[in-house]
Amino acid sequence: MSTSSQRFDAVVVGGGPAGSTTAAVLAQHGHRVAILEKTKFPRYNIGESRIPYGWLALDRLGLVKRLDEAGFKMQKLSVQFVSHDGRGSTPFYFFKHTDHDCARTWQVERAQFDQMLLDNAVEKGAVLFEETQARKLLHEDGFVVGVEASSPDGPVTFRAPMTIDASGRDVFAADRYGWRIPDPYLRKIAVWSYYEGAKRDPGVDEGATTVAYVPGKGWFWYIPLANDVLSVGVVAERDYLQRDGVRDPDAIFAREVELQPWIRSHVEGARKMAPCKITSDYSYRSRHCAANGLVLAGDAFGFLDPVFSSGVFLALHTGVLAADAVHEALAAGDFRAARFEDYGATARRAIEAMRRLVYAFYDEQFSFGAFLKAHPEFRGDITDCLIGNVHKDLDPLFAAVSGFAKVPDPLEHGQPLLAAAG
Ligand SMILES: Cc1cc2nc3c(=O)[nH]c(=O)nc-3n(C[C@H](O)[C@H](O)[C@H](O)COP(=O)(O)OP(=O)(O)OC[C@H]3O[C@@H](n4cnc5c(N)ncnc54)[C@H](O)[C@@H]3O)c2cc1C
Repeated sequence: MSTSSQRFDAVVVGGGPAGSTTAAVLAQHGHRVAILEKTKFPRYNIGESRIPYGWLALDRLGLVKRLDEAGFKMQKLSVQFVSHDGRGSTPFYFFKHTDHDCARTWQVERAQFDQMLLDNAVEKGAVLFEETQARKLLHEDGFVVGVEASSPDGPVTFRAPMTIDASGRDVFAADRYGWRIPDPYLRKIAVWSYYEGAKRDPGVDEGATTVAYVPGKGWFWYIPLANDVLSVGVVAERDYLQRDGVRDPDAIFAREVELQPWIRSHVEGARKMAPCKITSDYSYRSRHCAANGLVLAGDAFGFLDPVFSSGVFLALHTGVLAADAVHEALAAGDFRAARFEDYGATARRAIEAMRRLVYAFYDEQFSFGAFLKAHPEFRGDITDCLIGNVHKDLDPLFAAVSGFAKVPDPLEHGQPLLAAAG
């Protein structure tokens, strides 16, 4: 079969939140962009809970009003933590912390949310190739110059001076280059399902995300969605969840629901809508954020344990940052990796702030309540971190947290590769 060839200014691998954001912003800048998406949308995705600072990227994409209109009626105004014996903490209400519009965010069904982002990129001028899977990076003279892909019509070559890897946890480029570094500490598994008719807290708390502790370094998420649907999942160490040889995801899930009094009482009498899904070992980062002609965004750059619902926020945030950096590269006609140093540093700062909070959360000695009792002056900074305001200097916060939990040193990851690609 012969290979057809297409030429663009930029090729984006993956049509999830990072890819469609990058493509939309590049198209807004006036560039010819291709999005390659291996599936056919709408497709299922996990990750329904938004955090407030994702609003900034959604606003840049012109989507805030549309999210309200599109039936994402379930507003998320807070996050609350529940101890392993079922006692709830005072929720962190975002509107008590900021009067910015971002204080009101959404719980979303991802198939619909991701479709909206992808449609938006296409409306802005990006060209979408669905059921088209990038298979190989193309190299010339030490630069990435596009990808080879498979499509329903056969093999296709997409050539462009810039390629953006937004392939999510498939980590298209980082795996091929051997850049993926698993996080040795955050080696968890997640098991989840959906319920119809489960309990919601009343009034302002109806759409709150609840994080309920599980002994054995773990937690449940409890995310109310529209149409009476609840997303419920448990995350913990593999050895803990698979103890006594239990491997069946539904059996693990049922046992853990029984053991967490708050979760048990909230799903009692509700209908479990589907067999459980399971995923494992998903926290990692990429050694490099860019090579000549190539940039990584979203989960393709790094993925953190989802305890603070940071994934989509980081995908949107790095998507915008990557697009602006690629735009400047295209305008300058300079596609060297060194151009993406600032991009890498800004993205890293966001990921690192979240990562330090995740580590503190998993430290069995740490409790938000005890920490804030000793350091009430840091309540604002903790909330900033929880809402994604990771642009501010959070070092004083983590210096104080280190008296209560093991806080990791910053990771030297995400620098551009300053050698030939390929
Ligand atoms: C258990 C769990 C719970 C989570 N909960 C939350 C949450 O509550 N809130 C939150 O914000 N985040 C959550 N996340 C994280 C969130 O799902 C991701 O961070 C987010 O989807 C990242 O967006 P992305 O665009 O980088 O990747 P994705 O959404 O994965 O999109 C990548 C796209 O690339 C496509 N693709 C892959 N390889 C190729 C290829 N070679 N060629 C073409 N296309 C390709 C895929 O089909 C996919 O559509 C959770 C994650 C897990 C594992």
